[in-house]
Amino acid sequence: MSRLDALRIRAAEAGREAGSRGLRTSASNALRGTQRALEAELAALPRADRGPVACRSGCAFCCHLRVMATPVEVFALLDFLEQRLDAEAFESFVERVHRTESRLRALPVDKVLTVNLPCPALVDGRCSGYAGRPLNCRAYHSLSVDACRDSYDHPEDLHLGHPQLAPLARVHAGVQAGLVAALSEAGRDARQYELVSALAEALDDPTTRERLAAGERVFRQALTLDDPTDESIKTGTPR
Ligand code: SF4
Repeated sequence: MSRLDALRIRAAEAGREAGSRGLRTSASNALRGTQRALEAELAALPRADRGPVACRSGCAFCCHLRVMATPVEVFALLDFLEQRLDAEAFESFVERVHRTESRLRALPVDKVLTVNLPCPALVDGRCSGYAGRPLNCRAYHSLSVDACRDSYDHPEDLHLGHPQLAPLARVHAGVQAGLVAALSEAGRDARQYELVSALAEALDDPTTRERLAAGERVFRQALTLDDPTDESIKTGTPR
């Protein structure tokens, strides 16, 4: 087995164990435990495997891409923002969610992944929900700001990528897979939903939280990777 495979497997086991332990009390504790497991796995990497990366505060090219997240991550971001922002700022966030979702829904399906739209949590080029951001946002990193800019300038070209640190990427992927495994084993919805449309549904429909607890499909309107009617989204996670 290669070192990278071993890293991913170890991270997946850590994420699954932490997720399962947290689920004994609540889904939010499962996510918190998984995040701590992620931090521990990242800290265990040799320094050269962790950076330096090109990402800097205020650089937000990647925050214009589509993000996929499980329901526990969607609720965690929402709860974090509701607690952290004052009433006026939270209202602005809610308006941005609905405005961005309307823009997404107005797009032809083949354009959903190929348009730059700022995440509603983005304020003055920074994530206002940084500590509560989804795992895919935590995983996203780049070794080249030029590659990110190029991708941003040509959103229609899904082949444009950016260089990443393979060990870092494997650890993130492993922990994410571990959380999905823990949720699935506990009968909770572990689907990946498009973040903005899921946030909109969570805000508009309080029964979404009840559905998570009941082990049902949480979001019925949000875009997903596995919905056979969403051909545009099936093609992949953020560029
Ligand atoms: S949640 Fe934060 S990090 Fe993730 S896309 Fe939105 S602004 Fe960027």
